[in-house]
Amino acid sequence: MTEMARLHRCRWIAIAAMCVSATLCLAVSQPKIAREFSGKVIRVTDGDTVKVLVDQSPVIVRLEGIDAPEDGQSFSARSKRALETLVAGKTVTIRSTGEDKYGRTLGFVFVEGVNANARMVAEGWAWHYKKYSSDEQLAQLEVSARAARIGLWADPNPLAPWEYRARQNPPHTAASDKPAATTGTYWLNTSSNVRHNARCEYYRNTRSGRPCGPNEGRACGSCGG
Ligand SMILES: [Zn+2]
Repeated sequence: MTEMARLHRCRWIAIAAMCVSATLCLAVSQPKIAREFSGKVIRVTDGDTVKVLVDQSPVIVRLEGIDAPEDGQSFSARSKRALETLVAGKTVTIRSTGEDKYGRTLGFVFVEGVNANARMVAEGWAWHYKKYSSDEQLAQLEVSARAARIGLWADPNPLAPWEYRARQNPPHTAASDKPAATTGTYWLNTSSNVRHNARCEYYRNTRSGRPCGPNEGRACGSCGG
């Protein structure tokens, strides 16, 4: 082999290696699309779930890679409204990535060429659901939304929906561990020492806190504690 030929061969090997690694990177950051279908959005359940009529059958679609505030959390209504504004009553294309553990279709929702999942994160109405998604675009959009303090990021210390759900459904504890019926009826924000009752939007919805009795802490100014 001449020196020139050897150089060429090296260059091709280098290019081939780059192609392989680029393909692998794409495979990691973009979930596989299992199927694609279209339908009309007949209901927006919340900021990350819609019901779509496909061939006259309703299909519940959980938006892939994002997580929106739960009912009872701050900004849940505005998050839902943002998704409604985007997709309600419209014909959308779903690029499905599979199903979640509840049997709901997971997917990206496209409306008039707009990726609704990405838009919700970009406008600060949903979090990138990092536990189940390594999508680089969604990660970057959340960083930008946080920096701009738009949508739910107006709150400097928001509670992630998955943390909120974990607090709503704490791991099972033996009945004998918690004797008082009053415990758990109120929620104490342990950093501000403010007590909230079960109807308050901050109930089980503060970054640090614990269930408490009716006489602990200071009563919340809005719910009365
Ligand atoms: Zn309160």
